[in-house]
Amino acid sequence: MAMNSDYVCVREVGLRDGLQRITVPFPTEAKIEWLRIEAAAGISSIEVCSFASSKVMPQFADRAEVIAAARAIPGLEVCATILNYRRAEEAFTADVDALNFVISASATHNMQNVRRTPEQSMDEFRQVVALRSSRDQWRRIKLAGCIATAFGCTLEGSVDPRRVLSIAEQYIQAGADEVALADTVGFASPKQVKTLFTDLLALTGSLQVSAHIHDTRGLGLANVYAALEVGVRRFDGSLGGLGGCPFAPGASGNIVTEDLVFMLEACGFETGVDVEKLLPLRDLISRYLPDEDLHGAFARAGPCRVLVE
Ligand code: ZN
Repeated sequence: MAMNSDYVCVREVGLRDGLQRITVPFPTEAKIEWLRIEAAAGISSIEVCSFASSKVMPQFADRAEVIAAARAIPGLEVCATILNYRRAEEAFTADVDALNFVISASATHNMQNVRRTPEQSMDEFRQVVALRSSRDQWRRIKLAGCIATAFGCTLEGSVDPRRVLSIAEQYIQAGADEVALADTVGFASPKQVKTLFTDLLALTGSLQVSAHIHDTRGLGLANVYAALEVGVRRFDGSLGGLGGCPFAPGASGNIVTEDLVFMLEACGFETGVDVEKLLPLRDLISRYLPDEDLHGAFARAGPCRVLVE
């Protein structure tokens, strides 16, 4: 398949996926500064928080302020995660542009993550869709159905791709505007990514599809490339790979936004992002989270330069 210059959307998820397991509070002003730097660098979509309970994830207790600041940035798509129906009304009222609903293909993981069976979660997603229809001003809010542990699970091992595709079908029937596959724990291989996204794209038609890839075992960008080859054009990344993996101490989390942008541009895709303008953000993050490892080869090596002796 030809992969010449088309547009690829890079969505930043560090403010949600990166921060959600970090217990050191990241100040609201620094989150807002993060948003501004990324938007100025050309990032057009940012996941800014999760609507998890503030008791479980105090990191997002300031979400109303962060969403308001993000909404004030012209042209920025403001996304957030919801894990159940309970907080959907709060999320719709906050007036984000897109909500990401999460169901794990692994039933054990879903139970541990949200204390529901995948079927119960899907019922709640249907209720979220119905709630959106109940008010005119909510109808513009995009609903993405994310399938976590789509490529394997630390609790169940391999995950049957038929289960993943069945959840995707249910999302589509329920009224999702986008379907995302997530390699939540970094089990995916490029071969697996290619096969599963090919099968997914056969189901989704004109619906948007996106990939949420982790780099836990170093295959992150290879997996992105595999998804690109079969036609996926939306990818999540986390600045500096912030976030790690709760099941593999020291491992990186999401793929590194900077390296993702660098690879896409090097392959001739258009991202609209100036990768060098993202780099100052690493200092901002390190200032507030000095104990967090930041990852990324582009930040270490800088842009390609010809050295003349
Ligand atoms: Zn993730």
